[in-house]
Amino acid sequence: MQVLKFGGSSLATPESIRKVGEILQEETVKDHTIIVASATGKTTDQLLNCGALAAKGKQEYKEKLQGITQRHLEIIKALLPVTNQSSLLSKIMQQFNEVDDLCNGIFLLRDFSNKTIDQLLSYGELVSSQILSAYLDSIGIKNKWIDARELIVTDSNYTKAVVDFNTTIKKIQDALNIVNEKVVIVPGFIASDDNENVTTLGRGGSDYTAAIIAAALKASVLQIWTDVSGLMTADPRSVNHARVIPRISYQEAMELSHFGAKVIYPPTLQPVMQSQIPVLIKNTFIPVDPGTIIESNADHTNKTIRGISNINHIALLSLEGSGMVGIPGFSKRLFETLADNGINVILITQASSEHSICVGVEEMNTYKAKASIDKAFNHEISRGLVNPLVVEKDLAILALVGDNMKSHSGTSGKMFGALGRNGINIRAIAQGSSERNISAVIAVNDVQKGLNVLHEEFFETTYKQVNLFVVGTGNVGSKLLSQIQQQQHYLQKNSRLQLRVVGLANSRKMLFDDEGIDLQNPGILQNAGEMNLDEFIRKIQTSNLRNSVFIDITANEAVAAKYADLFSKSISVVACNKIACSSSYKNYKYLKDIATEHNAAYLFETNVGAGLPVIGTLNDLLRSGDKVNEIQAVLSGTLNFVFNNYNGSKTFASVVRQAQDEGYTEPDPRLDLGGTDVMRKIMILARESGQVIELDDITNESFMPPACMQGSVDDFYNEMKKHENHFKNIYEEANKAGKKLKFVARYKEGKASVGLQQIDPQHDFYHLYGKDNIVLFYTDRYKDQPMVVKGAGAGAEVTASGVFADIIRAARV
Ligand code: ADP
Ligand code: ASP
Ligand code: MG
Repeated sequence: MQVLKFGGSSLATPESIRKVGEILQEETVKDHTIIVASATGKTTDQLLNCGALAAKGKQEYKEKLQGITQRHLEIIKALLPVTNQSSLLSKIMQQFNEVDDLCNGIFLLRDFSNKTIDQLLSYGELVSSQILSAYLDSIGIKNKWIDARELIVTDSNYTKAVVDFNTTIKKIQDALNIVNEKVVIVPGFIASDDNENVTTLGRGGSDYTAAIIAAALKASVLQIWTDVSGLMTADPRSVNHARVIPRISYQEAMELSHFGAKVIYPPTLQPVMQSQIPVLIKNTFIPVDPGTIIESNADHTNKTIRGISNINHIALLSLEGSGMVGIPGFSKRLFETLADNGINVILITQASSEHSICVGVEEMNTYKAKASIDKAFNHEISRGLVNPLVVEKDLAILALVGDNMKSHSGTSGKMFGALGRNGINIRAIAQGSSERNISAVIAVNDVQKGLNVLHEEFFETTYKQVNLFVVGTGNVGSKLLSQIQQQQHYLQKNSRLQLRVVGLANSRKMLFDDEGIDLQNPGILQNAGEMNLDEFIRKIQTSNLRNSVFIDITANEAVAAKYADLFSKSISVVACNKIACSSSYKNYKYLKDIATEHNAAYLFETNVGAGLPVIGTLNDLLRSGDKVNEIQAVLSGTLNFVFNNYNGSKTFASVVRQAQDEGYTEPDPRLDLGGTDVMRKIMILARESGQVIELDDITNESFMPPACMQGSVDDFYNEMKKHENHFKNIYEEANKAGKKLKFVARYKEGKASVGLQQIDPQHDFYHLYGKDNIVLFYTDRYKDQPMVVKGAGAGAEVTASGVFADIIRAARV
């Protein structure tokens, strides 16, 4: 004897019912088979909606009901040969007429009690099972339809009735033992009470019907046929990489279903577990998939965690007060009050100080809970011993489930570490003493992210997904995008990182794609929406994707002003933009602190020396306990290029123009020529060395005639031409002395300065070619011979690679 249950999605359309027919052609020859059928597709929801509309006096229910009726009639017409249709059509039509009468009654009386709800919903299963029965007959599977209301007896707790097992088991055995047919069809979900009123077993309860019958008949197996290939490591609608769990214990499966895995209705496993009947979960649409077996001796791989599930619509109730400490009976009264009001407690935590008790309940119960608990503790509240009940809504429970947790330490550390790194705030925690489940209460908005974070942490050793939001598609930005595209495969394979650009913008356009923007298409932004920075930032925050990194490759102040908002949501920032780091010390420090506080990375290596590891090296020196005493550096790729290429043969202005054309300068080249850019860089190095310093504290001996620095960029070029002699003199003077010109930055004893210097051939700076930068760190450990970082310090390609390196560092945080 075997019991097979088919869910609503397996019975939604004529095509899916044909698939069910094919499965049953094979299965019914193997053994006596009881088939339990749910209502088709979303019928239960739709019937409920009709009733609710009627109860509100809304005539639209008629149209909706007409839709449901029509859908069923069409299924019959599509499935049965024309000659067999009429008797079934009239039988089903008659039942929908009863539904119509019922809704009309609800409409007139405006009364929609739980008893009426059950009566209304029962038609869903009644008609679907009759249709399936007739269809199976038509394809040669002879069967007998038996009404579940004659088999399953419950109390009168309508909508979630409790089964009277003794009577039910006897009725099932009596009824089925006298059936001659090898195949029996029973509607799921419905039952009746002692007075023969129809009751239901709770939403999703067809699974339970099937389990009760399986247990009563000591079936060899209970098969649950649905629209997924088994019980999965997480809800596949929320976690793309969820995978099927091949074998699992009853207890683990029960825990997962209690904590939200909808694929099995929670009470289902109880009756079959007692009789040790294995449960097989199978996919109607891909029957060759092996599915999941739930049994007592589920094999134990070394996996500590079996699955992750969530329950939304949770509220936390906190009862707090000094009057609770050490006095027995408080919690008893709290739970009694909840129980008396029919409020189910999903999770409990109590601090050992006994100062507060916190319980998680379904959100719909909050009003009732607040009123009844405040009433029950009225006496204590009025004397100030206990505070009125505090209710927090819009919460959800995330639960990690696995039998093996008890023999492993560190699971909760890993769980909360991963959630914390992603800025998910935990409101309450509970761990069952069975150690089969750790639950965390979080904001419902964080559920999707939380599920994915935990799934990645516990199941996806293969790779970590990193979601990038890139602003700026100029020289550096476009190089970065092509480097990312080129390296994606390598990083996934060798570093287990899956980088995806999920948001992309420049000053005109912006684009989002949670699945990753196609970087191979260079014109992808052309047809995108208009850029709106506030919208872009809001979208990052609302997408709430795990491991999010914002990458600023602009020189824009408004973009830099958004970092704090991002850090406060634990989103890391990689900035090529120097504005934030070189703004006021107060802002620099604030950003670093807020990033640390929210576990976000704030990386800006390319602010100094483009791709050269200057800030990283400095940080490493400091972290390892060294102390920086002096920094000498040539930090302007532009100025180096200019002074390395200028010898009076071409005008100074044309050499500057060449530097700009080759992409070495800031968008406004005066920031380079006037020394501001170098001042910012040495200030950043001084700040990173621990110095409180502002731009005004830095001495700048500029070599530029003041007239060149006024007006527009065009004026700047024109003025430089007029001052050609000035530049030529500077060059000649150095050249005569056998020296080279370098624009040098220096930081020593808390003071910083920048200025043009003549460098003699013995100096480390002398042999510095092209657009190279050099930094000398004099530290306690590098006293006489400095630590030297030298190499190309400008250019889109190297800057992009520096940004890329920061992204990888941020991804590893
Ligand atoms: P049926 O109509 O067959 O009873 P349900 O909709 O009740 O089907 O249950 C199947 C659905 O449960 C799946 O489509 C899936 O979206 C959802 N689900 C939630 N959690 C899990 C999980 N851990 N494993 C598999 N499915 C899950
Ligand atoms: N049709 C019922 C529901 O949707 C029972 C079930 O499908 O299991 O809740
Ligand atoms: Mg179901």
